[in-house]
Amino acid sequence: MQTLESYLCGSWAGGEAPHRPLHNPTTGEQLAQVSSKGLDLNAAVQYARDVGGPALRAMSFTERGAMLDKAAKAINDHREELIELATLNGGNTRKDAKFDLDGCTGTMAYYARLGHKLGDTTFLVDGNSSRLSGNPRYIGQHISVTRPGVAVHINAFNFPAWGMGEKAAVSLLAGVPVISKPATSTALVAYRVMQILEESGVLPEGALQMLVGSTGDLLDHLGPHDAVAFTGSADTGAKIRGNANIVKNSVRVNIEADSLNSAVLGPDVEPGSDTWNLFLTEVVRDMTQKAGQKCTAIRRIFVPKDLLDDAQTDLVNDLEAIKTGNPTLRAVTVSALATQAQQEDIRAGIDRLLSEASTVHGGGNGDLTEVEGDGGFFVTPTLLKLEDAHSADAVHAFEVFGPVATLMPYDGSAADACALVARGQGSLVSSVYSDDKKFIRDAIFGLAAYNGRVHIGGKKIADHSPGPGTVMPQMIHGGPGRAGAGEELGGLRGLAFYMQRTGVQGNAPLLDKIFGEGAIL
Ligand code: NAP
Repeated sequence: MQTLESYLCGSWAGGEAPHRPLHNPTTGEQLAQVSSKGLDLNAAVQYARDVGGPALRAMSFTERGAMLDKAAKAINDHREELIELATLNGGNTRKDAKFDLDGCTGTMAYYARLGHKLGDTTFLVDGNSSRLSGNPRYIGQHISVTRPGVAVHINAFNFPAWGMGEKAAVSLLAGVPVISKPATSTALVAYRVMQILEESGVLPEGALQMLVGSTGDLLDHLGPHDAVAFTGSADTGAKIRGNANIVKNSVRVNIEADSLNSAVLGPDVEPGSDTWNLFLTEVVRDMTQKAGQKCTAIRRIFVPKDLLDDAQTDLVNDLEAIKTGNPTLRAVTVSALATQAQQEDIRAGIDRLLSEASTVHGGGNGDLTEVEGDGGFFVTPTLLKLEDAHSADAVHAFEVFGPVATLMPYDGSAADACALVARGQGSLVSSVYSDDKKFIRDAIFGLAAYNGRVHIGGKKIADHSPGPGTVMPQMIHGGPGRAGAGEELGGLRGLAFYMQRTGVQGNAPLLDKIFGEGAIL
């Protein structure tokens, strides 16, 4: 059996027993094992600071962009092999595996282009200068420079390539070296990506290390200039935020956590119209793509009371055509979940929601397509329905991280829909399906404070919408409250987490001369 090793301090090393298993979720068979026990993580942190950091800081944005471009190409050259691994260890259909891999390389290529645009400099000039006294020569100017620390990236199981690539791209473009830690259950893809990057030699030594297995005492070695970017459950996020060393050293932390994302259907949308069909397509896609295990997936569907029956009929029709099972078959849309624990959690989660809702489709245990044996970790798409969204609690408080969503009525006003969305206590994204300008305007301003992103679906963009579930590097990813109160990506905005913004005061002609060499934010 394969034993995965960590890539730390310029070489590969395995941990001591006991090891944790990695499975093929379609069959339950064990594929590999991993341990980080006994690895010197303090040395890895120091190596990043002493070797990777100086090498990256010596490069301009243009050079870092060119490096990211080569890294994206190196990964893309192994696309087929990585797709197979994602099916093996993640249970992914080919489409879902491509979504993860192309998301990874696409985001890296996007940040490569940004690096090229920023040019042959190493700092960013932030806004215009301000006059600070009666004398116009005395001014203040904000700039952003690379922080001299290491970034620890702790990723969730659902996007082993994309999660790793998007975080690394932003950090490396900012000039900060990375220690990347994939989730253990699906680590094979991220592990292979690390091997590919190491073999390609496109990154300077120490710029990217990988810890496979548990985080161990890694966080205890971080200092005031280091950062942790985490994606995963709210419970783990809270532990990381509360780590005594992180608190003591004011280590920067970004948390991307749970989210009860919503879709709101406007009262103007006619059944059968383009906007109606877009709403159906995007809800069903979010319930089924990656077996519903996307942090951005729609969990709560708000429909005007008088459209509820039509929406239910059409959603159930579409879901009935979906096949769950063997991810290597083209006909299969919903694949396995990554672990048995998730299967158990989702089934328990459906039961919890059923304390106030009823099932209109599925139930989690439907027929599987061409799955051999009963060792796989499957849950079939499940649509629940509530008669009264206001009196419900669990649906607004509890994320079922699988192919599960709940349909609910609202009174048709933007105010009512927004009040219900807000009960999710902060989300990554909400979508509004409407072509009524007033409804859309009210919804945007009613939703924006409770969401990291608002997606407007309407007839004019029906053929171009990737849906709310696709995280675009141009747009920020993150959300307030339950979603972790974090912010990633968003073009250049993402670099701020890895850079120090500093106000510099002094003589205007002198500062103009020095900062004239920087890239303008
Ligand atoms: P998780 O159990 O919290 O694990 C996430 C990562 O944290 C894994 O790498 C895990 O390592 C690590 N970890 C676990 N305990 C830790 C600790 N005490 N200290 C430091 N690291 C620790 O979450 P998951 O099951 O992988 O992911 C599912 C959740 O992630 C869902 O709730 C989903 O909503 C959320 N998610 C959010 C986003 C977003 O962008 N907002 C994206 C994807 C997923 P091991 O695997 O080795 O245990």
